[in-house]
Order: sequence, then structure tokens, then C-alpha cells
Amino acid sequence: MCWAEPHSHREYSSIVVGGGPGGLGPLLWAAQHGLMESWLDQGVALIERTGRLGGTLGRYGINSDSLGGSYLECLASAGWPAAMHHLRRDPVTLEMQQYQTSYPPLPLVNQYMGRVGQAVADMFPGHANSALHLHTTAQSVHLLDDGRVAVVIHGAEERPRTLVARSAVIALGGRQHWRDEMAAPGLKFVDCDTRHLLASNELLTHDGLAQADEIIRNAAGRSIVIVGGAHSAYAAAWALLQLPAAASLANGQIVILQRRPPRIFYPDSAAAIADSYPFEQGDICVRTKRVNRMGGIRGHGRDIWRQIARKPNVSPESRVAVLALQDFSTSQLRETMAEAALVVPCLGYRSATMPIFDSTGQQLTLRADINGDAVDGDCHLLAADGMPLHNIFGIGLGSGFRPTQAMGCEPNFRGQANSLWMYQNDIGAVIYREIQGLADARQTAAAVAA
Ligand SMILES: Cc1cc2nc3c(=O)[nH]c(=O)nc-3n(C[C@H](O)[C@H](O)[C@H](O)COP(=O)(O)OP(=O)(O)OC[C@H]3O[C@@H](n4cnc5c(N)ncnc54)[C@H](O)[C@@H]3O)c2cc1C
Repeated sequence: MCWAEPHSHREYSSIVVGGGPGGLGPLLWAAQHGLMESWLDQGVALIERTGRLGGTLGRYGINSDSLGGSYLECLASAGWPAAMHHLRRDPVTLEMQQYQTSYPPLPLVNQYMGRVGQAVADMFPGHANSALHLHTTAQSVHLLDDGRVAVVIHGAEERPRTLVARSAVIALGGRQHWRDEMAAPGLKFVDCDTRHLLASNELLTHDGLAQADEIIRNAAGRSIVIVGGAHSAYAAAWALLQLPAAASLANGQIVILQRRPPRIFYPDSAAAIADSYPFEQGDICVRTKRVNRMGGIRGHGRDIWRQIARKPNVSPESRVAVLALQDFSTSQLRETMAEAALVVPCLGYRSATMPIFDSTGQQLTLRADINGDAVDGDCHLLAADGMPLHNIFGIGLGSGFRPTQAMGCEPNFRGQANSLWMYQNDIGAVIYREIQGLADARQTAAAVAA
């Protein structure tokens, strides 16, 4: 692929592609530790294809499964830049404060992240070495012979431009990969014959929920089949049950087909014991003592699980039946999908990717392209053969980052960390330090050469 020569000789410390919660994560970590302005002085180019920073959570018509307080925590940090203090008094922040210990609606979280994003955007004009490119799409990334990286971007101007940096952070958000998943031996979801199919990513949007309401209204006793047993599946069940048409659902008309029971979050072991929830020592976070801190279902997904499981002090929910996917033969599953009024695959996320070329102009296949983890433990993007790209980092929904126990993770957790708090804290810290490490190594090499 051809790419234009850099439009200027400016070399950035880092080019961040994507201005959602992932892309903002390392900057917000730096902001909390009083390091944002010095990083902007080194030179950061932030590329976002829409006109705003803050991401895409506003699409969804459900509540957050993180407490409101987890979004607000950054504002109270000691290093928070004075120029961003006004966020503490912003009306949207004040509204979020009402959800300090509860679960705010995602559209409100999105509004808040938009305010945070605007405050970050307002920092750029004061730092001549940095540049914010809104309404600009990053088209490709190129590893250069000299170890630097070039990113081809296209905004309002007629021709694409090339920016050069010592590192790049790729934060394009997630994509769902259910089409490639096997529902049963020999049966891919994409090959199932279904009347209506809405993957969780679509179902949970405002439009998706309106469509589901219509489908349920006309279901005439047919099942609504949710496939999956983690956060999205139980969030989907909760969201479906809130729809006006759900009042007429019969017992067991919503079916959750899961491979294994979900893990459930509890603030401590006493709470789990009081709820008769079975757990092991390995489910307890070493740092916080919470049960299933990283992998447990929270929020409304947890509420509905407790109702389905008939836990104490909740009204039992009998419109949902939970069945084991492996109890179905391939033909039974095919039939169940075909008969259902609606099928909802809830099978998780992988990172969205963009073309990356090596220094010979060859396009690399990335791990994320083949539905693997996009990154290693230091957030380096991985090529399909497992080779980390030393100065290209990945963060955000579906990146496959596996937190360490030191980050406050239960030893039994095998999943990926998809959380705004993690992007702004542990994961953001990893990327910031890696980027600064590259700068330090370069300075040392220059000093040795001199
Ligand atoms: C339904 C749902 C609910 C969730 N709830 C929570 C929750 O309660 N708490 C929590 O912590 N996490 C939650 N998550 C997980 C995750 O933290 C969020 O999805 C978060 O918004 C991910 O941020 P992101 O930056 O990776 O993606 P996005 O928010 O999608 O941002 C990606 C950005 O990249 C831009 N972009 C994409 N391609 C390009 C390109 N080529 N050039 C330039 N810009 C580009 C997009 O315009 C976008 O602004 C949820 C996820 C889902 C799907």
C-alpha cells in the first residue's frame, strides 16, 4: 500500500487512534498523576473519526454495570490538571454523583465521558507539539525502517496525510465475532436458520430494544433464545424483561443457553455466603477481597441472575429458563434456533483492527484479525504469530488484556478486562510507562552514540 510522505517533519511521542474510553485511558491515567501536560509537551496526536471524544456507550439503552463512583474517581485524584478542575462542578458530573453507589444509565455515562473528552480536547491548543484531529479517520499504520511508526489519516482535506511518531496506541473499540463461533459441533451461528437475530451489540441499542419489543409482541408463544452465559447474556435478559411486551411472556419463554454458569460479583465473602453462592479461594481478589471482582456479573445482569436463581429478598423471575448448551444435540439446537422468535448471540467482543504494514510494505495479519487476544501483558499489539509489535499498543473493548493479580484480579479469572476504570488506571498506566520507556531508551541510545 502506498502512503504519502509526512506532511511535516514533526515527530510525535505517540499517535492515539480512537478517542473513546480506551484511547483516552492512558491520557486520563497521566492526568491523574500530574503527567498529562508533560506528555502533551512531548507531542501526542489524537485521531478520532467523529466530532467528539468520549466513545460510543450512548448507543445502549441499558444501565452501566460499573458504579457511578468508578467513573468519578479520576476527578478527585491529586494530580488532576487545574485546567480540568471545572469538570468537578459540571452539571453532568453532579448528575453522575447521584449514582455514586448505584448503576447510572449508559447514556448518562456517555454524556459524562463526552464532558471528560471535551476537557481533554481543550488541553490540546495549549500544547504546540500536540494535535487533535476530529472528523478524521486513521486509514493505516506503517512500521518504518528506523523504528518509528507512520499513520495515514484522512479528514476534511482532499488528500490523506501521514503523521509520524515513536509509538502508536490503537483504540478503535470492539467488534462481535459470533458469526465465526460454533453453536454446536458442525453448526456455526451464522449458518443457523433464524426468524430474527440480534446480537447483543445490536439488541442493547435503543433501536434494537424497540425491535425486540415488536418481536416479543408478535412472538405467539415462540421462545426468545439468548446464547451465552456472561455479562451480555444476563444484561440482555434484564433488558428484554423491561420491555412493555415482556409483561405477556409465559414462564420459560426466554431461554438462556449457556456453556457454564456465570460468575457473580460479591463485595466480600460474607455477602457471597449470605447469598448461598458457592465460591473458592481462587475467586477472591487478593487485593480487594471482593469475590469475582474482575469476572463476576454486576449491575442489572446480576439482579436478574439473582431473581432467576431465586436468591433471598428478590421476587423470583420465572419467565427465564436457563439451560446447558451442551445438553442440546446439533439438530436440536438447529431446530431451537429456527423455531425461536428471536435469537440473541451474546458471545463477547474482539478488538476492531485496521491495516498495519511492516517496513517492507507487507500487511501484517494481527492476532485480533483471527479472533485472538489483540495484546500481550504490556499491551503491545500482537501479530498473528504471537510477535509483539514493540511500539504499537492496543487498548479498549475486546483487546483481550489479561489483568495480573497485582492489579486486583481473582486468581481464577481467565477473561479479559473491559472496563473504563481499568483503562484509566492499571491498563492506561502500562501503556504510558511503555511509551515513556521507549523515549528513555532512545535518549540513552542517542547519548551513547554521541
Ligand atoms: C453494551 C455494553 C455495555 C458496557 N458497559 C460497561 C460498563 O458499564 N462499565 C465499563 O467499564 N465498561 C463497559 N463496557 C465495556 C467498555 O468499557 C466500553 O465498551 C467502552 O466504551 C469501550 O471503549 P473503546 O474506546 O474501546 O470503544 P468505543 O467507545 O467504541 O470508542 C472507539 C472510538 O474509536 C473511534 N474510531 C474507530 N475507528 C477509527 C479510525 N479508523 N480512525 C479514527 N477513529 C476511529 C470511534 O469513532 C470511537 O470514538 C460495555 C460495553 C458494552 C458493549
